[in-house]
Amino acid sequence: MKKIDLSIIGSGIGGSLIASLNADKKTVLFEKDQNIGGCASTFKRYGNYYNAGATTLVGYEDEHILKEHFDTIGLNPNITKSNIAIRVIQNKNVIDRIKDFDQFLDNINDVYPNKNNKYFWKFIKEFDEKFWNLKKIYFGKFSINNYLKTFNFFMELISTYKMDILKSADGFIKEILGDISMEYRNFIDAQLLITIQTTSKDISLLSMALGLSYPFHDVFYVNGGMGSLIEDIVKNVELKKNEEITKIIRGQNEWIISSRKHEYKTKKLILNSSIYQCGSLFDDYEVKKYYDRFTFSDQSAFVVYLTLKSDYDFCEHYQFIYNDLLPNCISNSFFVSFSKKDDTKLSRNGYSITISTHTTAKYWKSLQKDEYVKSKNITESFIFEKFLEYFEDIKKEDVSQLFSATSTTFNKFIGRYNCGGKAIGFKNFMQLPSCNTPFNGLYNVGDTVFAGQGWPGIALGVDVLNKELNKV
Ligand SMILES: Cc1cc2nc3c(=O)[nH]c(=O)nc-3n(C[C@H](O)[C@H](O)[C@H](O)COP(=O)(O)OP(=O)(O)OC[C@H]3O[C@@H](n4cnc5c(N)ncnc54)[C@H](O)[C@@H]3O)c2cc1C
Repeated sequence: MKKIDLSIIGSGIGGSLIASLNADKKTVLFEKDQNIGGCASTFKRYGNYYNAGATTLVGYEDEHILKEHFDTIGLNPNITKSNIAIRVIQNKNVIDRIKDFDQFLDNINDVYPNKNNKYFWKFIKEFDEKFWNLKKIYFGKFSINNYLKTFNFFMELISTYKMDILKSADGFIKEILGDISMEYRNFIDAQLLITIQTTSKDISLLSMALGLSYPFHDVFYVNGGMGSLIEDIVKNVELKKNEEITKIIRGQNEWIISSRKHEYKTKKLILNSSIYQCGSLFDDYEVKKYYDRFTFSDQSAFVVYLTLKSDYDFCEHYQFIYNDLLPNCISNSFFVSFSKKDDTKLSRNGYSITISTHTTAKYWKSLQKDEYVKSKNITESFIFEKFLEYFEDIKKEDVSQLFSATSTTFNKFIGRYNCGGKAIGFKNFMQLPSCNTPFNGLYNVGDTVFAGQGWPGIALGVDVLNKELNKV
């Protein structure tokens, strides 16, 4: 049986980053799929490449933890800054989410005039900036030392934000902007749904500030697809692709992990699979019970993939917001990402386009095969028609490939039904999973664990885990 110091199960953003930071140990990274990166992978179909889910990268900035990780592993990522982070299209209005605050403010004032817009958006931007300057970000459980460090982080939050830390997003909107129109509310909520997976109804002011400020940072396009970046991250790591870990046994001072190919003995084990599906890997009652107590967060993705032949120039990212929910979805918006024309991999047969929106896993799981196919066609066609309706110059026949994925597809390829964890709030903070577990040598990483989804959130979680692993 091969002996390993550190095994990481799953090559998502979390698994890949933590593996790369510990590549100097006897570390092995296992990935069930042939592509690495999970929700941030790039796959090939019908001779074309597509980003499976994630298309934007944020956090590659000085003083930000993601850049620090990349610098530590000596990675100079092949990325290009987007001039317009997101072009938002709503009822024929256009709002460009750009980094330049004054330009953005002029734009929002044109579309949604409000005497307090400047105060609101400036406050949101500064609230976010303060977060990224915090020095004690930490969330851990199961030992006095971990609780103490978590408490110190709480105290830093309180001393930084004072009473504002207790404010809700909804309350803050009402306090500053008053009773805004349904369209303005939809504009705010649709962006929160893509950045932090929920709307302003359920979250704290801090979560809203982090979500809405995403485009006030540099937003990058990843050349060659998101999966290429993951490949660059793990280039010095022993990687076992196409090797799904199917069973884990708790030993005395180690963990025995098995795939259909081999069995390994590992001192430390990090699971990058969704926290809601980790329990199924274990027979041990205590470990199973630990994982089963996290209630499933039923938020998932419906994604449409296209290949488009066109001479037109497009922004890299658009968000389309409507007044009503899309069919079979829990969102009234979808997010469209175009590959860059000069991307020799993604755009080799035309633009590679990834369009995503939110749905529930429960819905797709509940359908019989024929109902599933029918529902999938309805959602795919609706999104495609809306896409064609806006881009009038694109004709149906310019699109050479069109197919889609549901939560069931995500589960088939990357072993997760839900896409995105729960947004952190004061009410649910202590119920959230931390990177450490009550079991010696067993850890978790990824977007279902603190501090949440996407590159910046997962990088923060990786930082906490790395300190935990190496007891810094
Ligand atoms: C449609 C969509 C669009 C998004 N857009 C963006 C975006 O633009 N920007 C952004 O920053 N974020 C975006 N996100 C969020 C981001 O993609 C995710 O938060 C992030 O990729 C999740 O990373 P993770 O570390 O949790 O791992 P995951 O992506 O969940 O990957 C886990 C990996 O573990 C593997 N695995 C699971 N079980 C096993 C096993 N038993 N054995 C071996 N391997 C296993 C899986 O195959 C997978 O590769 C998007 C997400 C979706 C779904």
